Amino acid sequence: MSRPAWQFIVGLLGGLLAALAAGWIAGRPALFVAAYLALVVALQAWNLIRFERWLRLRSILKPPNMRGLWGETVERANRLYQRKRFHKRRALALLRELRRMTSAMPDGAILLGPTREILWFNPTAAQWLGLRRKLDYGIRIDNLIRQPEFVEYVVNGGKGPGPRVHMPNLGDRWFAFNLVTTSARDLQLLIVRDVTSEARLEGMRRDFVANASHELRSPLTVVRGYLDTLAEDPALDETWREPVREMQRQSDRMHSIVSDLLELSRLEAGRGEAELEPIDVAGLLSLMRKEVLSRPDRPARFDAHLESNALLLGAESELHSIFQNLITNAVKYTPPEGTVSVRYWTDARGGHVAVSDTGIGIPAAHIPRLTERFYRVDSGRSRKLGGSGLGLAIVKHALQRHGAQLEITSEEGKGSTFTCHFPPARVQHRPAQ
Ligand code: ADP
Repeated sequence: MSRPAWQFIVGLLGGLLAALAAGWIAGRPALFVAAYLALVVALQAWNLIRFERWLRLRSILKPPNMRGLWGETVERANRLYQRKRFHKRRALALLRELRRMTSAMPDGAILLGPTREILWFNPTAAQWLGLRRKLDYGIRIDNLIRQPEFVEYVVNGGKGPGPRVHMPNLGDRWFAFNLVTTSARDLQLLIVRDVTSEARLEGMRRDFVANASHELRSPLTVVRGYLDTLAEDPALDETWREPVREMQRQSDRMHSIVSDLLELSRLEAGRGEAELEPIDVAGLLSLMRKEVLSRPDRPARFDAHLESNALLLGAESELHSIFQNLITNAVKYTPPEGTVSVRYWTDARGGHVAVSDTGIGIPAAHIPRLTERFYRVDSGRSRKLGGSGLGLAIVKHALQRHGAQLEITSEEGKGSTFTCHFPPARVQHRPAQ
């Protein structure tokens, strides 16, 4: 017990004893004690009423001036109240500052509740997405923005990279979304960025590459045609034979670059996922094996381990292009006495196609950049072998359209393995016969 509490009890008892003594002297002890107790109750009631009144009106009244235990209680209550007021003021000031800052933010910000309902948004988000204060509060964001890539992103709780969404009805703009989740109270902050100019610039670059490649194709076909005729002409001067052959080789390279650029543009232009045609991968791979074995630069061994006859759901031309590029590379970068092998298998994680070789391999530092356009480990060697530097970029794009991943493992001087992992949704097992 605290000191004031002790003092209070001692005072009470002291008063009681004094009343008893005075009553005894006066010959009416019961009366004196009763009068004393009535006085004590009245005093405490009066203090309680003052204290309750101050608690009720504490924002406008000064704390009552009391002594003893009551004074101590008032003092403590007042200290608690002042501390709470200080924190409340600070939180409010911070909130006001935060609001001012989010209002001035160049990005849009939308606060979402546990069921993705709109709780708050800043003026930028309102302006870009046409949100209306009060009217749109409480409405689920995926009911307002219905583009499938956006809905999938927010329903999955913002897993993976935020989507870029085209909004034709909102001024033909592009927006990038990012969901920030805090574990506390299931609140999510949706950040919106206007990426219209980036998207337009990218579109222009894509169109330019596609148009330039398309325009180059016809003159190149004419040049190659004449070079072929010239090379076969018996009247051609002997000193011109080698230069003409070199011109043929170079124009063939130009042709393969232009074709690859066109294919890449086509893949980039095809938005969304590849179609779901059922493709007999085992059949396709064994056909490709036969083709390779009939080539003059064929490897000493080409094994095919086709462990599944399941079908893959995809676009035939794109799957063909993926495997063709990987097999061509394996053959190109493997000496004639080496071995190339393909393996196709399925398991619970999906369908997998691996192309392995015992060729020159790739230094580890280069592996992460191999799928960039025109990236070559040894550009001299790639050019000599007729490479465009675009093959793996095509593979990556085509795989992405199938929801698939490319895994590259390699050891310099020993060989490489390129594995395509297709998700289970793309695998269709044939009924048992
Ligand atoms: P390229 O037309 O030059 O072959 P790619 O995009 O197909 O272009 O491949 C990029 C680079 O990756 C190649 O230049 C080569 O250095 C390396 N590469 C690809 N496949 C293999 C492989 N099987 N073995 C060794 N290096 C490879």
